[in-house]
Amino acid sequence: MNVRVNGIGMTSPRTRQRMIERLRTQGIRDEAVLAAMFEVPRHLFVDEALSSRAYDDVSLPINYQQTISQPYIVARMIEVLRASGPAGRPVKRVLEIGTGCGYQAAVLSHVFPEVYSMERIQPLYERAKKQLLDLKITNVQVRYADGCAGLPGSAPFDGIIMAAAAPEISDALREQLAVGGRMVLPVGRQEQWLYLVERDAKGFRESRLEPVKFVPLLMGKE
Ligand code: SAH
Repeated sequence: MNVRVNGIGMTSPRTRQRMIERLRTQGIRDEAVLAAMFEVPRHLFVDEALSSRAYDDVSLPINYQQTISQPYIVARMIEVLRASGPAGRPVKRVLEIGTGCGYQAAVLSHVFPEVYSMERIQPLYERAKKQLLDLKITNVQVRYADGCAGLPGSAPFDGIIMAAAAPEISDALREQLAVGGRMVLPVGRQEQWLYLVERDAKGFRESRLEPVKFVPLLMGKE
């Protein structure tokens, strides 16, 4: 149930709590991720007409043929990113590729101290930046840029998370991982899988996690 006061949507804690309970039954265990998902008002990141469905386990359109990912996949990817790798290094600085409406960036901001997020579609970038500011989230730097080549100027990152699927794992992005860092990303065209790439002193290790469905990673800006 949504109540709107002065144009600011408020969703009852019960609706959010139901989402958290569902995430638990879907296997999400990381309490910090669950707390962040409870905190971030997901309904503010979608069009008002869709806000009553904001906490359902669905992806929703955010215009420009893009979607906000379903809560489960946001939680799952961040949980994988946070799990300490072989080197046991805490994840501090994270890069997200594909800001979209800024929802995942907001969740990331609750669990990591320093977040960079890149978006190639200008109106989405503008709106996400404003929404994060309205929520007084100050530890996310949003960039209007093609994220295919990552953000070498701010590398290395302890974590990289991609919200759009590339046909293969990019070497340029892997190289921007710190030793002990991890990257979680959808890979493939029609058939897509979530991959985890871990970097240690010896090199990279890849694991295939589960089937997923993401919008494609596109080149250039618009
Ligand atoms: N994390 C987002 C999900 C957005 S969908 C959220 O919480 O809403 C994926 C986004 O990736 C889209 O907004 C799309 O424009 C963006 N994207 C696709 N290719 C990109 C690229 N090369 N660089 C930056 N962003 C890209």
